[in-house]
Parts: sequence; structure tokens; C-alpha cells
Amino acid sequence: DSFDAMGLQENLLRGIYAYGFEKPSAIQQRGIVPFTKGLDVIQQAQSGTGKTATFCSGILQQLDYNVVECQALVLAPTRELAQQIEKVMRALGDYLGVKVHACVGGTSVREDQRILSAGVHVVVGTPGRVFDMLRRQSLRSDNIKMFVLDEADEMLSRGFKDQIYDIFQLLPSKVQVGVFSATMPPEALEITRKFMNKPVRILV
Ligand code: AMP
Repeated sequence: DSFDAMGLQENLLRGIYAYGFEKPSAIQQRGIVPFTKGLDVIQQAQSGTGKTATFCSGILQQLDYNVVECQALVLAPTRELAQQIEKVMRALGDYLGVKVHACVGGTSVREDQRILSAGVHVVVGTPGRVFDMLRRQSLRSDNIKMFVLDEADEMLSRGFKDQIYDIFQLLPSKVQVGVFSATMPPEALEITRKFMNKPVRILV
């Protein structure tokens, strides 16, 4: 079992190997391919299992690099996690020329607006700042094709439910959804029922 057998673009594979990964983890082995095929995927996995590279690879494989518009949105519960995901996405997508920006609280709104207006392929952020950017139309949602909720249970327990729903309302109706969560409390199940279309479930 290898990354080579997943049908990934050459330049994505180069990024994965240059980052130092040699073999896919269990979640990567099972989760990358369904995501690259555009399927909605629920992955119940703890952190430390390699889930970040799973959705980053799934997103990087599907972006249209000729169009510098936001095509993928990733939400995470904390600023630190969002910035860590931004780094992984940028590293794995280095040979693809991906443009990623982290939209998180505690940073300059003006700077976010400047970077977004210059153009990015992927936004990773915390729900509050992302919703603010969408509301101001500094972040355009028209071209968003992929939506990932990382640590969904953690986002819900931090009170982000309403903001997640508000953000989802602003996305195109046929958006691909990935939900990553260590546990599946009722509110997380409700999200999967409301936002997802025939999701594939992967339990690691
Ligand atoms: P995550 O669950 O995404 O937070 O990843 C946990 C840790 O495992 C991180 O330090 C990753 O860099 C590392 N990791 C993820 N996938 C692999 C892999 N295929 N090979 C080696 N290390 C990995």
C-alpha cells in the first residue's frame, strides 16, 4: 500500500514525499481516494492518525490551479490548529503552487482582506473570522467546491454550531463535505444529516 497507487497527481506525490511521508497511515489509506473522487466523507479519527494530510491531499488533488479563487474551505476549532493545517496544506501543495490563507481571530482584518483579494485557492480558518470574511464578501463563496470540518466535535463543544450553520448557508448547494471528528455526539450527527449527501463513513 502506497501513495503511488492512489491516482494522485505527480506534483502532489512530490509534495507528500518531500514532506517526509513514505507510506500512508490507515486513515490516509482509506480516506484519500474517496475524497479525491468528490464523495462526502465522514472520518471518525483521533488526532495523531494523519487526518490532516488526508483532507489536504483530497483537496489539493481536486483544485483547479488555473483559477485563483477560493475552491476549498476548511474550518478548525482553534487558531493554532488552523495555522498548522495551513502549513501542511502549503507544504504538501508546494509543487502545485497552491495559495493558502489562514483566516483566524486575533490577526488583522485588513491583512486578511488584502490577501483574499489578491487571490487564494484554499482558506483554512476558525468559524468566527471565516464567517466575518464571508459576510463582508471579502471571501467569495461562489467557487467553493469543498468544505471540511476538522475536529467537528471540538468545534461544537466550543459553541461554534450557529456559525458553522451560517457559513454552510452561504456555500453553493452542491459543495462536497468532509467531516472529521474523534467522537460523534448528536450535534455532530445532525451536521452530517443536514449537510451531507450519502456520506462514506470511515472509522479508524
Ligand atoms: P494528524 O493526525 O494529521 O495531526 O497527524 C499526526 C502526525 O503524524 C503529524 O506529525 C504528521 O506529520 C504525522 N503523519 C501523518 N501522516 C503520516 C505519514 N503517512 N507518515 C508519517 N507521518 C505521518
